[in-house]
Amino acid sequence: MSSHYDVLGVSPEATGEEIKKAYRKLARKLHPDVNPGAGAAEEFKAVTHAYEVLSDPQKRRVYDATGNENGTDNGFGGGYAGQGFAFQDIFDTFFGGGGGGMQGPASRMRRGQDALISVRIDLREAVFGVNKKLEVDTAVVCPTCEGSCCRPGTHPERCDICGGSGQVQRAVRSILGQVMTAAPCGSCEGFGSIIKDPCNECGGQGRIRSRRSLTVKVPGGVATGTRIQLSSQGEAGPAGGPPGDLYVEIRVNNDPTYVREGDDLHATLSVPMTAAALGTEMQLDTFDGPQEIDVKSGTQSGEVITLRGLGVTHLRGYGRGDLKVHLHVETPSKLDAAQEDLLRQLAKLRGEQFTEGKLVASGGMFAKLRDKLGNL
Ligand SMILES: [Zn+2]
Ligand SMILES: [Zn+2]
Repeated sequence: MSSHYDVLGVSPEATGEEIKKAYRKLARKLHPDVNPGAGAAEEFKAVTHAYEVLSDPQKRRVYDATGNENGTDNGFGGGYAGQGFAFQDIFDTFFGGGGGGMQGPASRMRRGQDALISVRIDLREAVFGVNKKLEVDTAVVCPTCEGSCCRPGTHPERCDICGGSGQVQRAVRSILGQVMTAAPCGSCEGFGSIIKDPCNECGGQGRIRSRRSLTVKVPGGVATGTRIQLSSQGEAGPAGGPPGDLYVEIRVNNDPTYVREGDDLHATLSVPMTAAALGTEMQLDTFDGPQEIDVKSGTQSGEVITLRGLGVTHLRGYGRGDLKVHLHVETPSKLDAAQEDLLRQLAKLRGEQFTEGKLVASGGMFAKLRDKLGNL
């Protein structure tokens, strides 16, 4: 294995300035945006790594003493993105750092944007989950140039003005005298290469707008505002860059019968007064089909019957919430004469008293009311 000095083509006695110069020269030659060969990318990594070690006096001392840089942090071996970052840092140190857009040739390739769409579902679909077909207006990779931005058969050409570095140096007068600064090359917009023959279909963007349909698996338990993340289903990036993510935001339609609270469902069932007094079986249409509701004799308005496990699927974990049936006893109105007469007879049989046709609450009733108020 060649030493870091060999990789940069300098002697082990090289000064920091000589190392910097050697690296700069190699980086401009090998940067993947300038030199797309696979071998060049590997070489560029090795050169950048060697420079990272030798440009840091502390790391260089460790390397000189031991022949390896185990004393350094494990900043190498990661993906290309990490290397690109280091590359920019290093260019910043060349040119005095910070601001000014001082970096190597810019890449046309960028990650696409994340996209957000909302989808309406019914409560039943939120209870059980559903596969929804969606149509999205989005950016897709250009089918003609496949993201290269160039007319098929052509390639970007190295920029003559900046020699492919994407940077031009200018002498600027300052109070310290004449100094050199770097700025993005105006001819290639900093890309280091020029597309002379752009793809017709995408206008050299490498992507076009299109309508795409996809099916999203909506799990049971989602609620309004839940966002489902679909990795890499967002907009295609410019120049063949990786796509962003697609977020699908759920809106649940109101249901005429059921109201959701957490993972429980609530429904109100009206029970005629007579049925509540005598007891009966009633049927309720639930999302799981018709269910028999056992109305006990003497049922009071506001009583709740719980049907376990007929609520909303838990989004996290297993099982489902409950279905709570609130019984509402209906007091009859618009009685005809015969019905009214029967009710009066019933009241009389129950020992309820009237004065001038009006029912007088018994002492017992007042006592119950007092008890209730006392508890408040
Ligand atoms: Zn194209
Ligand atoms: Zn240029």
